[in-house]
Order: sequence, then structure tokens, then C-alpha cells
Amino acid sequence: MSRRIDGKAIAAQIKDELKEEVLRLKGSGVTVGLAVILVGEDTASAIYVNNKKKACEYVGIESVSYELPADTSQEDLLALIGRLNQEEKINGILVQLPLPEHIDEEAVITAISPDKDVDGFHTESAGRLLVGKEGFLPCTPAGIIQLIRRSGFSIEGKECVVVGRSNIVGKPMALLLLRENATVTVAHSKTENLQQVTSRADILVAAVGKPKFITADYVKEGAVVIDVGIHRTAGRKMCGDVDFEEVQKKAAAITPVPGGVGPMTIAMLLANCVEAAKR
Ligand code: NDP
Repeated sequence: MSRRIDGKAIAAQIKDELKEEVLRLKGSGVTVGLAVILVGEDTASAIYVNNKKKACEYVGIESVSYELPADTSQEDLLALIGRLNQEEKINGILVQLPLPEHIDEEAVITAISPDKDVDGFHTESAGRLLVGKEGFLPCTPAGIIQLIRRSGFSIEGKECVVVGRSNIVGKPMALLLLRENATVTVAHSKTENLQQVTSRADILVAAVGKPKFITADYVKEGAVVIDVGIHRTAGRKMCGDVDFEEVQKKAAAITPVPGGVGPMTIAMLLANCVEAAKR
């Protein structure tokens, strides 16, 4: 039976550390402010935004939210971002994705000042990560590095396989593991013999977007398995990209869904806001 990596507990620990840091900053006259923009009435997005606001409140970050109607024009949204870029009290700007179809996500993300890009999605942040310069890291992969490290597993020299190559999870995940001196393979939908590739992994990160896709046959005995996927099954139960029940019998450690990677994503967003204020 494998060890369960408790993302909720590790995220709580990080939030408590940040709470102290926010207090210290307040003591020296610096407040931390986050602007959260939500366009439209997508229920899942509204829940995510609400969770982010609650987490901000807990650590003492002042969050200001802009809940805009679904028919907001791209021009108006860009104008709001332009104003927030200039606003001194706002250290971070977060635009909840996905945006309505008539709005170009790329244009919106690049309109955010790289100094306030707390989601780490701006091309400048991505470029900085690529060349090893300091910058904002995308929250989900940054949270996964913290999960692995704080659970006591080393990354250096290990064989890591990331399944998925999206700009927000797979690619930055691979770069961060490389920065930690792992040997990294990125697999995707065109990868041949996927089971053979994933079975080499000491650390396997699943960001496939397919419920219970990674079964025990994909996993090496004793591997550390990180499940990024979030899916709601018919009975409103949640599951990830990994078949937890099966894989836990084989892995040394595994993240559950919920309670694994998810809480870490929010914790790292808060960490980026604090970092932005310090800069
Ligand atoms: P995307 O859909 O953007 O990317 C999925 C990746 O999986 C693609 O690179 C795709 O390959 C690859 N893939 C799809 N099918 C296969 C297959 N059969 N074999 C191998 N690779 C395959 O998803 P995201 O990266 O945005 O998200 C992944 C999952 O993580 C989702 O479930 C999402 O909900 C969740 N998520 C969770 C977060 C959290 O906080 N816990 C945050 C962000 C996402 P190709 O490029 O070739 O198409």
C-alpha cells in the first residue's frame, strides 16, 4: 500500500507560512493586493474564484474582485487590465480562464503586466522559466515541486515522466523538474508505447485530462505518482487522471483527488502574490 501525499495539509502549512510573511510585510508598510477578474457565469469558474478569495482572506491578502457579464467586450476587459496594471495597491492580476469565446485569451494574458502575472501564464514568465531567470512560475507545476519536496522525496537524478504538454501544466512541469536536475521525458497523445515510457518513471506526473487513464500497467513498482487531473463523475464524486485504487497498490506514494494537487495550486497563487509585493 502506498503513502498518500496530503496536498491539503502541505498547502495549509504553506498558507500559514505566507500568513506570517504577509503580517511582517504589513509591519513594514507593504500590503499585498490581488485583483481577480471573472467574466461570465461559469459555475466551476465561480467556485474557483470564490476559493481563491477565501484563501486570500485567510493569509491576509486584500483581494478585489471584478465579476463582469458574459458579453463584456475584449476592449473593455483590456482597458480594465490596463488600469489595474497602473494601480499601486494591486500586486497581482488574475483573469479566471476559460474566457467567453469572443475574447482572445492570449491577448488578455499578454495584456497583464509581467510584474503582476501571478498565474505565471504570460509569455515573458514562460520565457524566464525556459532560460532559468527569476520570474513567476505557473501555480500547478510549482505546487507539484513543493508537494514532492515537502513529502521528503528527492528529484535530482530521478527519471521523471510527465504525461501532457499543455502550456499551463505539462511543459512548465517538465522545465521545473529539469531545473531540479531530474532526467525528464514529456509524453503526449502521439507518444508511441506510452506504457513502456511511463513505466520507467521514478516520478510520474499525469496531466492528461482523461479520467482514470493511468492504470497500474503504466506505473513502475515504487514510483511517486502525481495526479493533476480533475474530473467529476456521474455521482458528483471527483476523480483524477490516475486510477487511484489500482495504482496505490503499486506506487510508493500517490496524490489523491481531491486533496492532492488542487489545494497546492491555490497556495502557490498566494505565494506568487506575496512574491510580487516583495518585488
Ligand atoms: P490539456 O487538455 O490542455 O492537455 C492534455 C495533454 O494530455 C495534452 O498534451 C495531450 O496531448 C495529452 N494527452 C491526451 N490524450 C492522451 C493520450 N491518450 N496519451 C497521452 N497523452 C495524452 O489539459 P491541461 O494540461 O490543461 O490539464 C490536464 C488535467 O489537469 C485536466 O484534467 C485539468 O482539469 C487538470 N488541471 C488541474 C489543475 C489543478 O489545480 N489540479 C490545474 C490545471 C489543470 P497532445 O498535446 O498531443 O494533444
